[in-house]
Amino acid sequence: MSALLNYVGGKFVPARAGRTREFLNPADNSVLGAATESEAADVEAAIAEARRAFDEGPWPWTPAPERAAKLFKLADLIDANAEEFARRDTLNNGKPLRESRADAADAAACFRYYAGLATKPHGETYEVGDPNIVSMSVREPIGVCGQIIPWNFPLLMAAWKLAPGLAAGNCCILKPSELTPWSAQLLFQLIDEVGFPPGAVQLIYGAGDPAGSALAESHGVDKIAFTGGTATGRKIMQASAGNLKRVTLELGGKSPIVMFADTDPDVALEYAMFGIFAGQGEVCNAGSRLFLERSMYDDFLPRLKAACEKIAVGRGLDDDTEMGPLISKAYQQKVLGYIESGKESGAELLTGGRGYEDWRAAGNFVQPTVFVNAPPDAKIVREEIFGPVLAVDTFEAEGEAIRKANDTVYGLSGAVFTRDGARAQRVIRKLRAGVTWINTFHFTFNEAPWGGYKQSGFGRELGPHGYDAYTEVKQITTHLAPVRLGWFKGLG
Ligand code: NAD
Repeated sequence: MSALLNYVGGKFVPARAGRTREFLNPADNSVLGAATESEAADVEAAIAEARRAFDEGPWPWTPAPERAAKLFKLADLIDANAEEFARRDTLNNGKPLRESRADAADAAACFRYYAGLATKPHGETYEVGDPNIVSMSVREPIGVCGQIIPWNFPLLMAAWKLAPGLAAGNCCILKPSELTPWSAQLLFQLIDEVGFPPGAVQLIYGAGDPAGSALAESHGVDKIAFTGGTATGRKIMQASAGNLKRVTLELGGKSPIVMFADTDPDVALEYAMFGIFAGQGEVCNAGSRLFLERSMYDDFLPRLKAACEKIAVGRGLDDDTEMGPLISKAYQQKVLGYIESGKESGAELLTGGRGYEDWRAAGNFVQPTVFVNAPPDAKIVREEIFGPVLAVDTFEAEGEAIRKANDTVYGLSGAVFTRDGARAQRVIRKLRAGVTWINTFHFTFNEAPWGGYKQSGFGRELGPHGYDAYTEVKQITTHLAPVRLGWFKGLG
């Protein structure tokens, strides 16, 4: 396979310095291919194209139905190539095929949702007290948007960023993670087939620094949309301060699941596991802290242990795989380091806690891992691990559950399971988190807002909020019958 190329000014081009970076299959660390590696100068060239495309048009002024038609066409092409997208994301990220197939379907649906939203009403009119004055607001695109995405949902995160950005008329520059560049190449081949104006939508491969940081620092970029780690989010905010860019950040989490004893025990068990082990736990909203009502704890724990030990951990491409490898050796080591710190903190290891010694040793696999009785200040309770590691705690009363659930610097998501509807509402309203579920977990809808409280970031993606985040609000006030003001006496 020749190296994956940037897509700049409507053409596939290599980075100027001619360097490439390999990308790997995390199931065995074999090389899948290489992507061109951009320097700051490559990013600046893309920004110049985007600036021209935005400032001179036609994309921002293309009528909404025409923008929508292109996005609908792109959605159809994604559906037609769904199996290849799923194969690439599974090979490159490691996640099981059933997950990457769902990502491909969601990505197409996301483009369709925002294609539809582009043609819906967006402005407002205001009563300003003078019948001769009409005041209204319209929503306009922000301009050039840098979109920096992580490796855990390579295609889906690209869709979450590009779909609303393009629907609203922005010129977008996507920077995928250097670990998972593969599916973006196919996406941009389809974008090329649809035919957007040159510079309206571009792809830049490269490292966080210099490629991502060049986007964040440039005064030619009007908005940065970022998904990734909280530490990186902080750097991006600082770099964006120079020209006071619009910034939306979707960062990490340490999400709580509160389980009351009236929950069906099988439902409780499956969601507890789904919450943390879907996507190998490499999911920003992973349910990594489980709070069980004390009266269900003794029955629940042995069932949880037995069920975790039956999880089929293997290659994502194998049909029966339920959990894949972590993204890289470095991540595997980081997660194993957290597990060691958990043991040292005095927490009790219920199950898992290691890699594998069979064929999986070549890959980055970590056993589904559960700790109980962890001290509240243990790193495994406080920090985002981004791996298949669950900390289980108990509570006696509703207030205690809420206090423990909120005892985190993060606030991305949370859930409560109970058959008592009033209690579910009380608990969920007190959770300091942006995405919450009652009696379910993880499910994400293109129609509904996604984003965090506290250090999980700010701004919202998806739904109408996600569209608004790619627009500026312009007030337009018109006098229907202008008359002299009489303000300057000298005018007579
Ligand atoms: P990261 O935040 O470093 O990477 C995410 C994206 O940001 C990548 O495209 C990367 O190239 C880019 N980037 C890195 N440094 C940059 C910089 N200075 N300026 C601009 N762009 C930059 O993620 P990571 O190192 O792979 O993971 C670190 C932690 O982030 C993980 O442990 C996890 O806690 C968290 N994470 C969260 C999500 C999420 O969905 N919220 C996704 C991935 C990682």
